[in-house]
Amino acid sequence: MKPKNLKPNDVDKLFETLKKSGDDAVGSFLIKGHRIQISKHNLTGAERVKLLYRKRRENGLCIVCGTKVTKKNPKSGKLYRLCEHHRGEIDKKAS
Ligand SMILES: [Zn+2]
Repeated sequence: MKPKNLKPNDVDKLFETLKKSGDDAVGSFLIKGHRIQISKHNLTGAERVKLLYRKRRENGLCIVCGTKVTKKNPKSGKLYRLCEHHRGEIDKKAS
């Protein structure tokens, strides 16, 4: 994962987030060339997958393969959770 550049003031925000909800603060950050890595200790396999899916969802990526999703669901106005390819596969299974 590419570290995200933070301004010194953002570090306070990051730790506030960490205090409220650890999962939201997970990531890799650079402050003045120093890296802060926040990760969950002793993750189970299922938790790891859940976090990965969540990160992908937040970044607008297909939760299966990580491809950038560009199409929105016309009903909700939100990006689809899956890329065209994987949405197609699920539609095929459903019909
Ligand atoms: Zn996909």
